[in-house]
Amino acid sequence: MLKKNDEIILTIEDMGADGEGIGRYEGMTFFVKDALIGDVVRAGVTRLKKTYGYARIVEIMKASPDRVEPVCAFHRQCGGCQIQALSYEKQLAFKQRKVENNLRRIGGFSQELLQQVMEPIAGMEHPFHYRNKAQFPVGTDKNGKLITGFYAGRTHQIIPNRDCALGVPVNREILDIVLGFMEKYHVSAYDEKNGKGLVRHILIRYGFTTGEIMVCLIINGKKLPCEEKLTETLARLEGMTSISINCNTEKSNVILGKETRTIWGQPYITDYIGNVKYQISPVSFYQVNPAQTEVMYGLALDYADLHGTETVWDLYCGIGTISLFLAQKAKQVYGVEIIPQAIEDARRNARLNQIENAEFFVGKAEEVLPEFYEKEKAEGRQPYADVIVVDPPRKGCDEKLLDTILKMSPPKVVYVSCDSATLARDLKILCGGGYRLERVRAVDNFCQTVHVECVVLMSKVKE
Ligand code: SAH
Repeated sequence: MLKKNDEIILTIEDMGADGEGIGRYEGMTFFVKDALIGDVVRAGVTRLKKTYGYARIVEIMKASPDRVEPVCAFHRQCGGCQIQALSYEKQLAFKQRKVENNLRRIGGFSQELLQQVMEPIAGMEHPFHYRNKAQFPVGTDKNGKLITGFYAGRTHQIIPNRDCALGVPVNREILDIVLGFMEKYHVSAYDEKNGKGLVRHILIRYGFTTGEIMVCLIINGKKLPCEEKLTETLARLEGMTSISINCNTEKSNVILGKETRTIWGQPYITDYIGNVKYQISPVSFYQVNPAQTEVMYGLALDYADLHGTETVWDLYCGIGTISLFLAQKAKQVYGVEIIPQAIEDARRNARLNQIENAEFFVGKAEEVLPEFYEKEKAEGRQPYADVIVVDPPRKGCDEKLLDTILKMSPPKVVYVSCDSATLARDLKILCGGGYRLERVRAVDNFCQTVHVECVVLMSKVKE
């Protein structure tokens, strides 16, 4: 009988949705973190269940032909880049297969249909250094020396690393300046264990199109001693536009506190997606991979096929990114989003771009749309939309919303999704209500990780 800590030899034949390698041993399925298809590994059993178990790599006996030299030495500890050791070509194939499997298994779509409607995944030419935002925790090592880097996977232990392969190179310069300042002026790092110390996180945003840089220090208090010394040095960096302090004195995992104070420059940076301009503050939600976001919104726009006469709803609109993109081609766009601050950003961004045909509502999509529907009905009008776009968080759309979409029956539904499992579940419901799957394209916004975005076009089948 196999027991915990036993060592077994596994040939990895498949990869799970979270990037774990899958191999079989005496009829049991084993999940092995960091193992790739084609690897033969000696693995130590860490957990055993009736028919499956978990194991960790002790030795890679034969490396998969798809293994590449990882760019980052910390990729296994960090957990941010789950599949960095896999060649980029195979990463894309893995994601394409993941979407396809979910649509087949959960959505119930046939392989034949999927072959017709699925377009090849849109990957990046240079799949590194694409992130425009990074949040580095600050702490001390066991000798009391200041460190910054990343949390080790599923823990709050900081791995010192200022050179993340997904971030922009200027991050390193900024981190060096901030930590140098902290050392020189004896500014302490926050200690999660006892709630003491000052600097918690360093948030950096970079506008890829404008070159504008934002630095925000999240501190456990109100004031940063000698802050003018820090701004003096940071301001010399080319592109520096906004330096701020965010106060977070709560003992919690939430990074940002409620109060932000600009200490140098402007309270925001500006960036573009396509030709739409956005002002981004430290607390704004903004897509992290702007190049691929443009690809994704371009697809949504292409699928929506607008000619200037259409009424469009953009549900889960965030700061209005998709709405403003669509407004350029539609007659009227209505955006709905649950976070009031995001709607304020959306309205400001609309004004900034002189876009007048976009209107925004704060509320839950599953409440705002049904209420609109009922109100129109009550007043004797047929509630109509040409296109409904949804871009929900990972948990997908609420059934009440899908119900209302079916009642409103727009000719087209465009579904933008960051979780292909809930996407498949929701598409099944829409198809059950008279829609047909027309086009599906995965977009790799999160290279080196297991995550993937999808854009889907559904059309109403004519009765
Ligand atoms: N379309 C935007 C944001 C997508 S992220 C963009 O591309 O930038 C999903 C958004 O849905 C988040 O902004 C989140 O705040 C919002 N959200 C979550 N639940 C919601 C709900 N029930 N109703 C409306 N919006 C919701």
